[in-house]
Amino acid sequence: MKTNHQSMREKNTQMLINLLKENGPMSKAALSRKTNLAASSVTRLTQELFDDSILSLVDKEKTESAGRKGDLIYLNVKKSVSLIISFNVDKIIFDVSYLDGSFREIKIVDYEKTEGFEKVISNVLDDIFSSNKIGIILLLEPSNLSLRSDLSLDIMLSLVRKIFFDKFKKEIKIKILDQGILALIAEMNLSKDLSVDNNIGYVLINEKVNTGLFLNGQVIKKNGYGYSFGHTTIDIKSKKLCECGNRGCWELYAGVNWLLDEYYGDKIKDEEKFQKYIKLLNRANQESKANELLRKYAYNIAVGIINMVNSLGLDAVVVGGYIYNVQPWVINEIEQIVLSRSIKDNIRIRSSKISPAKICRYGASFHAIDLFFDDYLKK
Ligand SMILES: [Zn+2]
Repeated sequence: MKTNHQSMREKNTQMLINLLKENGPMSKAALSRKTNLAASSVTRLTQELFDDSILSLVDKEKTESAGRKGDLIYLNVKKSVSLIISFNVDKIIFDVSYLDGSFREIKIVDYEKTEGFEKVISNVLDDIFSSNKIGIILLLEPSNLSLRSDLSLDIMLSLVRKIFFDKFKKEIKIKILDQGILALIAEMNLSKDLSVDNNIGYVLINEKVNTGLFLNGQVIKKNGYGYSFGHTTIDIKSKKLCECGNRGCWELYAGVNWLLDEYYGDKIKDEEKFQKYIKLLNRANQESKANELLRKYAYNIAVGIINMVNSLGLDAVVVGGYIYNVQPWVINEIEQIVLSRSIKDNIRIRSSKISPAKICRYGASFHAIDLFFDDYLKK
């Protein structure tokens, strides 16, 4: 009966971890009460977790009532879980993530320093691996293709593998993740209002459009590079060519590139796009051209969301990424258009609560925790 015994232990440990994740710090007595596990079992299981540095004691519970309170237990927030590498337009960011979902920016490397670039990266990784016990590396799929062509994800991947292997003589788990899914995971972990919904769509609007789906209570994972609702056709007569090879894709109209092209006309350098976009949003308060354009843009976004909502029966849709910075009226506009055409009632559309610079990194951090516990519990 060894396997049964192990899986029971696994199940109970999982239950304790989930409770702590959901409720924050708790006493052993409270853990026992909530799980219906005997106090002795809770003590034994939590001791194992302490031994593996997964749990730590929180400062004595502050309380005004008299009487001794038990020590509070929580996930060891200092335990490093993963290295997150994000490729931005002009820089690579290295974060170390922790067991509570937080992350710390360790290093930023500019693409500018082309001389000895691989050496620079190698030194950064060396530093990080020597001071953090990390078993997972997550690479965020770049959201645009304007990366230095000689530093592809593949090169980065083999570089990271080599440095790690040279140092520790073993393989490391590396995953490349889709941004739409990560944004969804971040939003679900950091904003509690979504916990009532079983079917959630996430629309990450940057230069392009990425989407993530939570259907029937499950995050829908894709294999490798993600496909996205961004490539559904919304203009069947369009001659606009998408990088996917089709014409008239949603992301050509809902990505921020559309707005910038329509407003500024000429080509804007990738590294200037965000600033130009913010400038346009500010102008929309006084200038009718910018204001009307933003209204059209809201319509473009809404059309794709209607397709998602009506084909998947979503309860809620969150829009994030660059769209995080728009004024509330733009989101209201999108919501009104969607509601006027949706088959189902009571759909909520709201803006993300997490800044575009951080959302995917948070998503990766929470995802890493799941990967970590998947491995840990099977051990
Ligand atoms: Zn396309």
